[in-house]
Amino acid sequence: MADKGTLYIVSAPSGAGKTSLVAALVDKLARLRPSVSHTTRPIRPGEQDGVNYHFTDRDAFVRQVEQGRFLEHAEVFGNLYGTSADWVKQTLNGGEDVVLEIDWQGATQIRKQLPDAVSIFILPPSLEVLAERLRGRETDDEAVIQRRLDGAQEEMSHYGEFDFLIVNDDFNRALYELEAIVEARRLDTSRQSVRLEPVLENLLASRR
Ligand code: GDP
Ligand code: ADP
Ligand code: 5GP
Repeated sequence: MADKGTLYIVSAPSGAGKTSLVAALVDKLARLRPSVSHTTRPIRPGEQDGVNYHFTDRDAFVRQVEQGRFLEHAEVFGNLYGTSADWVKQTLNGGEDVVLEIDWQGATQIRKQLPDAVSIFILPPSLEVLAERLRGRETDDEAVIQRRLDGAQEEMSHYGEFDFLIVNDDFNRALYELEAIVEARRLDTSRQSVRLEPVLENLLASRR
């Protein structure tokens, strides 16, 4: 299709910094929109319904699964999470890029349906730093933090399924690396030749 958007998948263990990095990336780049997932997780202080997530109960979530409303969905740390199929497809068809922050199970489901999606895995510099970030964020109680730390190695064991691997040690360096992936993709010849059609026409016109 002509200038269709690219779908980016960003995964990481909880606390590695994907939400902060994706928020900063979306602020910096035009034509990149974050998908707002649906979840049954309780809302955290400071979160807003419809902004961070669409917060919902289990029954409503299951109904939406049955209606085929999700492009992917998965259970993570005892809560259900899902990506709205309609919104993602409409946004890509409108020529904008979309970024999903989802777990590795969701990434597997997306790759099967949309093999052109670009997937990025974010690692913390160490398990100690991951624990510090989860505690420093002050959004979860100790039992929830412990459960997320226990799940971190399982999540990270899937790094090899992703196209790109970034370590979020220095925040700005990791942000620059994310930007570089998006910018490089935007410059690939199949996309540029559509965007640059008039320029190419001029450059190659009426050779004597
Ligand atoms: P946080 O990642 O520590 O901010 O915690 P959250 O409770 O917001 O999310 C927990 C995990 O659920 C995240 O690490 C994501 O990998 C995953 N997640 C969030 N949204 C989705 C979604 O729409 N689909 C899937 N499959 N996973 C999601
Ligand atoms: P995730 O969405 O992967 O769970 P967050 O974006 O919520 O992670 O980040 C977890 C915590 O770590 C937040 O308090 C965030 O401000 C902090 N953080 C993120 N990246 C860095 C970094 N490079 N250096 C230090 N702290 C960071
Ligand atoms: P924001 O995207 O709002 O600038 O950053 C979100 C969070 O990421 C901040 O609250 C902060 O904890 C963390 N963060 C952002 N930039 C940096 C940075 O340059 N270094 C470190 N260490 N943390 C950062």
